[in-house]
Order: sequence, then C-alpha cells, then structure tokens
Amino acid sequence: MTEEELLHATTYRDRVSTVTDKGKRNWIYALKPKGKWYTYRKIIAYFYLAIFFIMPFIKVNGLPFMMVNLPKGKFILFSKIFWPQDFFIFAIGMITFIIFIVLFTVAFGRLFCGWVCPQTIFMEFVFRPLEWLIEGSPSQQKKLNASGDTMQKTGKKILKHAIFFLVSFIIAHTFLSYILGVDEVIIIIKEPITQNIGLLFGLIIFTFLFYAVYAYVREIVCTTICPYGRLQGVMVDKNTMGVSYDYQRGEPRGLFKKNTNREFGDCISCNQCVHVCPTGIDIRNGSQMECVGCTACIDACNSVMDTMKFDRGLIRYASENEISSGSKFVFTTRMKAYTVLLGVLLVAMSFMIASRKTVDTYISRAGGQLYQEMPNGNISNLFEAKIINKTKQEMPVTFTLEGIEGTVKLVGENKINLKAEDVTKCSFFIEIPKEKIPKHSTKITIGVFSNDTKIQTIKIKFLGPFH
Ligand code: SF4
Ligand code: SF4
Repeated sequence: MTEEELLHATTYRDRVSTVTDKGKRNWIYALKPKGKWYTYRKIIAYFYLAIFFIMPFIKVNGLPFMMVNLPKGKFILFSKIFWPQDFFIFAIGMITFIIFIVLFTVAFGRLFCGWVCPQTIFMEFVFRPLEWLIEGSPSQQKKLNASGDTMQKTGKKILKHAIFFLVSFIIAHTFLSYILGVDEVIIIIKEPITQNIGLLFGLIIFTFLFYAVYAYVREIVCTTICPYGRLQGVMVDKNTMGVSYDYQRGEPRGLFKKNTNREFGDCISCNQCVHVCPTGIDIRNGSQMECVGCTACIDACNSVMDTMKFDRGLIRYASENEISSGSKFVFTTRMKAYTVLLGVLLVAMSFMIASRKTVDTYISRAGGQLYQEMPNGNISNLFEAKIINKTKQEMPVTFTLEGIEGTVKLVGENKINLKAEDVTKCSFFIEIPKEKIPKHSTKITIGVFSNDTKIQTIKIKFLGPFH
C-alpha cells in the first residue's frame, strides 16, 4: 500500500468524496465503465427509458396504462381507474413496495440504486453519455475545465447546458403526461401559453430542478440527499450481498513489477476501481454508504485481472461473511420474515384489485330526517346516494328493494344515468307498508342494478314508529 493509499484507507470515514479538504466541491471525473456488468446495466437502462417515454402513449380501452392525477385525485394503473375511495389499495401497494425495497436491500444492498433508480439511469445513461459526446472523455473534460476561457470551451459549455436543459424539459413534460395524461398535455402544448401560465411555471420549475440535479448536483443526490441511501446503515448486515472487494485475496496490495516474484495479493494498486467510481470512493475500504452498487469497479477490476491473467472477481457481488469466511450466501431469518410479509401483502393486494368494484354506491339517510307516515299508511324514509362510475361508459342505474315489500321513488328525476368517470348524486324515498316494519329500526337491503345486472348490494337502516 502506498503512503497515499494508507492515508486514504485510514481517514476515508472522516471525509466526503465529493468535497475537497478545503471544503470545495470535488468534481468527479469518473472513467467510462466498460465490461459485462455495464453492458447488462445498459440493456436494462435503455429498456427502462423506452418504457418511461412510451408508457404515457399506451392506452387500453381508451384509458392510459398509467396515470397519477394528483390534483383530481384520479389514478389509473394497468388501465384501471382508481378513485380516492380505492386509496386503501394504494396504501397497501405503497407498503408492499417499501417492504419489497427493504427486503431487496437486506438481501442485495443498494441493488435498486445501481440498476433501476431513475436518478442513476438518467445520470449514467442519458446525461453522462451526452457529456462524453460533447466534452469528450473524463480526462478531456478535466483538461477543458482547467483550461482558460476559449471560444471552443464556451461553445462546448453552451451546447452541453442547452442540451441538458432541453432533455430536462422533455423529462418534465413526460412526468406531466403521467399526471394529466398525454392527450391533455398535447392540448396544452397547442394552446396559447397565456392560457396555461400556472402550468408553464410548474414545468419550468421542474425543468430547472432536473437540470440542476444532472448538471451540478449529480452523485451528491445519492451520497447525501437521498433518504433511502441514508437508511442503508440500518438495513444491511454482514450477510447482505453487495459490491465487495475480496481483501483476503487482494491484500497486501502492491504494484506489479515484471520479472519479479510477486509477494503481494492480487490487487496491483492500479486504482482503476477508484477512477471509474461515479461517487468517487475506494471500494477496497469496505462497504460504504456512498456506494450505489453500480458495478463499474467490478468491470474495471475484472479487466485488470484479465490483463494480469489473474482470476476475475477480486471485486464482485458478495457479502462480508462470504469474503471473510468463504461461506456461501445465507438466506437469513430476517430475509425469510420479510419474504413472508411481502408474499402476504402481494396476495392481499391482488385480491383487492381483483375484487375492486367498477361502480361504488354510498347510501346514507338524509340529514335531519326520521320517517314520514304517508296518507296511504306507508312509512317513508328519505335517502341520499353518491354513485361513482369508475368506467369510461355511461351507465343507467336503478335501485330495487330486496326481501321486503315496498317502493323506491327518485326525487326530481325518473332515472339515474351515471356519466362516465364521474360522481352522481341523487335522493330517493323508500316507502314500506307500516305493518312490514316490525320495529323502530329495520335493516333493509337495496339492490343496485345496471341493465338488469346486479352490481352492488347495500344494507341500510329504515326507521319507523316505535311499537
Ligand atoms: S482495480 Fe482491482 S487491482 Fe486495481 S486497485 Fe482496484 S482492486 Fe486493485
Ligand atoms: S464502489 Fe464500485 S459499485 Fe460502488 S459506486 Fe463506486 S464503482 Fe459503483
């Protein structure tokens, strides 16, 4: 180990890789990754990006595949409309997602960050390649930034930031399409700007946010801002799989010298694993919070091992216990518990989605009303109904009394016609012969029908005189 490496290895926990000793930003010029893992990540990233940009255009039965319209409280998942009344499904979905992430983190560390986190995908597979294209390789970028102002430098900087801003603008529009739907966004784009000033303002804020993240903040999001990254410490343990350096095999590290008997481990102190790291850390110091599990150091080290004709895998996916004792990956009790919980939540959520109604009827007694004795001897109660049509079709609806003699009379209208994707409110009287009401409060059943098909059964109390 060189003196510099020794100093780094003993003090790395006292420093932040993105900050210099003088407290300034340490700009990371990570080398371009190359290798098997980077290829796999590239495939996943471009697939992911394609889905992200294409999904708003996908429609099934006229409904977007996915839409989260927070202002209107309307959510569409897998082309099924979910209303605020279905919020419990969302709540279970969120809990399931969090458990899934926790389970994954306990078992595989920051696998999510390196492979599917949007921040990593956009940074490493959109903005960084654009930067390479405009400003050249990381070493050329370093030289360019250190050089004085020239026409060429200014031109490259203007071009890079203009393209970064444009891509951020496109990303902001795509996110808006997930909120309002792509049709609405197209209408808004075609309309005069003055009609959508508020929206334009929001879009510009989001565009600046994305631009600032990818042009300046970058890896600081992962190393300092992201709460998920901060929680790593409490979720991982010695059985957690992650990108690890095999110190048993690599140490003591030492430079490679030709034609001499090697008295060191397999690490030749080439520092390629450090130069390629997008968060600027040295994985040889052990598991660190700043590691996003991007696998760039695995590829870099494997390529060095190939050149040296050593076995690959000096840096590889492994747990601390695998490295220290050579044991195999263990599916711990904690992992088993999370898996069972995840399974239960998935089953519960699937059941709730499958049994979810497309029309939801809520019936309540009209406020301040008890009952009325009609001249014909019937007892009448006034009810109010709120009916939510979650489908894209208009729907006629009727109420029918079940299991008891009586009539249903709508107030002010002859029939109920539900508009598509809308909430309809109405009032109605139920009249039941007095002799059929055995007590002051009787539970009655109302069938909700659409085109002779029963869509819901509602049980409610009907009030009559005290006997
Ligand atoms: S790339 Fe491999 S050999 Fe080179 S310093 Fe890193 S661990 Fe050692
Ligand atoms: S240490 Fe390796 S896996 Fe972790 S962020 Fe750096 S390059 Fe990626």
